Amino acid sequence: MKPFDFVRVGSVAEAHGALIPGAAYLAGGTNLVDHLRLGIREVERLVDINRLGLTDITELPGGSLRVGAMVRNSALAAHPVIRRRYPALAEAILSGASGQIRNRATTGGNLLQRTRCVYFQDKTTPCNKREPGSGCSATEGFGRYNAILGTSSACVAVHPSDMCVALALLDAVVVTEQAGGERRIPFTDFHRLPGDTPQHDTNLQPGELITAVELPAPLDWPSTYRKVRDRASYAFALVSVAAALDVKNGHVQNVRLSLGGTAHKPWRAEKAEAALRGRPATAESFRAAIEAELEGAQTGKDNAFKVPMLRNTVVAVLEELRDGTTAQRRAEGGAV
Ligand SMILES: Cc1cc2nc3c(=O)[nH]c(=O)nc-3n(C[C@H](O)[C@H](O)[C@H](O)COP(=O)(O)OP(=O)(O)OC[C@H]3O[C@@H](n4cnc5c(N)ncnc54)[C@H](O)[C@@H]3O)c2cc1C
Ligand code: SF4
Repeated sequence: MKPFDFVRVGSVAEAHGALIPGAAYLAGGTNLVDHLRLGIREVERLVDINRLGLTDITELPGGSLRVGAMVRNSALAAHPVIRRRYPALAEAILSGASGQIRNRATTGGNLLQRTRCVYFQDKTTPCNKREPGSGCSATEGFGRYNAILGTSSACVAVHPSDMCVALALLDAVVVTEQAGGERRIPFTDFHRLPGDTPQHDTNLQPGELITAVELPAPLDWPSTYRKVRDRASYAFALVSVAAALDVKNGHVQNVRLSLGGTAHKPWRAEKAEAALRGRPATAESFRAAIEAELEGAQTGKDNAFKVPMLRNTVVAVLEELRDGTTAQRRAEGGAV
């Protein structure tokens, strides 16, 4: 590993001041330190932000909630307000990683974790995300986890976070500080599709520090998160679905759907949402809506299974929300 400086900071101003070219903020370190060890990232300096504070979860006027960037994933999932008012978020966090990693991982760091594409993590192989212009090994190589929506010829990787799929569902806002002051970024504009610049995962500017994530007042319809994976725990999503559904008189009044394991960013299924509003709340409508969303899906030799897997998962989750059986599954300790 290349030697680097280590600086510990106690304020946002100090954090900005310490960020020389080639430096990186260190939060929980559960992703960044792996990358340093694998040799796929080099830094001149680590700026440790663990003493910044930013660990509060605060209720704001109007019913929204501000989550500090350094709130650990386990603390967020366990918080009574999150469990009661944002259950899909708590479920999404608890479906990821392990207890030890969630104790260390932070809200800000989770947003910025990088893809688990095996070629991105192997510096002996071409990868446009790690080394722009070198090529994409995943297009013809191992493709079980590859994206099916919003891909480009430069990159077919997926965003790995579970928590971010739920934050996209909730219309969260990312709050940052940069030299020019505070910026508020709607969650669906935070991550990017690969296009021809897959080296950029997000729209953050160099040196911009995430200080909080804000959750709007909760939906008063039921919501949940379902993750499908190769092992029952400690595995990244093949596909995942965060959903909220409001049914009245047998018809869909409102719906939100967000998909994981599907694209380079958490994917809000807006076509499916539009197709469902006002329709009878039946399995047929649910299926037709997700099929409309997946019409443009591009699959390769290893990941065509994701299309029926997503369709079936979306239909199952919406049926469960419609029938009010989510609480029963949770009480029985059913898988997320
Ligand atoms: C074995 C393993 C299994 C996992 N399984 C899952 C899973 O199933 N689902 C899942 O969603 N995740 C999973 N993860 C990923 C884990 O959730 C992330 O590693 C974690 O959330 C990253 O947070 P961190 O605080 O440790 O970030 P760090 O590693 O400290 O930082 C990550 C990046 O964010 C930057 N950064 C951190 N905080 C800020 C900030 N406030 N402002 C600006 N930049 C910042 C850092 O500079 C770095 O580039 C797994 C991780 C491991 C190691
Ligand atoms: S899919 Fe993206 S991350 Fe994976 S090898 Fe191709 S360019 Fe790299």
